[in-house]
Amino acid sequence: MSDQQNFLHELVGSMSQGAAGNPTVVMIEAAFAHHGLHWRYVNMEVTPEDLGTAVRGARALGFRGFNCSLPHKVTVISHLDGLGESAALMGAVNCVVRRGAQLIGENTDGKGFLKSLTSVTDPRGKSVVLFGAGGAARAIAVELGLAGIRQITIVNRSKARGAELVDLLRHKLQLNAELVVWDGDYSIPVGTDVVINATSIGLYDAQARLNLNIDSLKPGTVVADVIGNPPRTRLIRDAAARGCTALDGLGMLVNQGIVGVQYWTGIEPDAAVMRQALEQALGL
Ligand code: NDP
Repeated sequence: MSDQQNFLHELVGSMSQGAAGNPTVVMIEAAFAHHGLHWRYVNMEVTPEDLGTAVRGARALGFRGFNCSLPHKVTVISHLDGLGESAALMGAVNCVVRRGAQLIGENTDGKGFLKSLTSVTDPRGKSVVLFGAGGAARAIAVELGLAGIRQITIVNRSKARGAELVDLLRHKLQLNAELVVWDGDYSIPVGTDVVINATSIGLYDAQARLNLNIDSLKPGTVVADVIGNPPRTRLIRDAAARGCTALDGLGMLVNQGIVGVQYWTGIEPDAAVMRQALEQALGL
């Protein structure tokens, strides 16, 4: 190895608040190391007031891109040169990619979910029930719409947030979308192919229960959870026990990392290496 190769020659970052010890760092750097890339993925604590300066800094330092998480996903857009299709539809960016001299905002949350889903079923023509209408639900619903699902029912506690998402899906994607205001145990309609929990219910609480009539889950239905920690949520356990195909949130997290690495480096990283690194970092 020449001296020059010993120097770092590419940087990717993560701009967030309070993300110290982010397991994503371990997962992404495991991919770089596995594929012999002399790249680093660095976590940077950035306050909302400093976001513009931080993005200018990333440009000046030649970063290949960066992830950004709350509270920067929407405000970062005004500091970028353009948006990918789904990020523009969602109005939220979690992954910035340097293309030529431009910084382009993408959203890999929904793409990561879609990659997980397509490992078990083709979303085209499917009927979907989606719990939640926050950032994760928005990202997932838009990608599902772009992937050609037939119909989606958004089940959300807050009517206003649910209606906003349904409006977006109907008007920007011409998707057959309806809202159910979540009040009491919801029964999955007969004929549903895919059920997704995109709420924060279950995060750090393996016993947390979704208000869902478990008996309405039919064998063969795909049931997915966005919660990655713990990965065996109550919903995932209940679904597996009922003969459903269960997809945990770790798959989504790994896949959004894979999409990011693909965007930044152009390589197809090894999913097993990344999942193993993530599980180790989470102590699973
Ligand atoms: P938001 O705060 O934007 O949205 C939270 C959603 O959960 C809202 O729809 C909210 O409903 C609903 N919700 C929360 N608590 C309850 C409750 N007790 N009863 C009913 N509904 C509830 O969060 P995000 O969308 O950004 O994130 C949601 C989850 O997704 C997080 O736990 C996050 O960790 C996970 N996530 C996982 C990813 C992965 O790669 N695996 C990627 C991104 C996120 P309401 O509108 O009524 O408030």
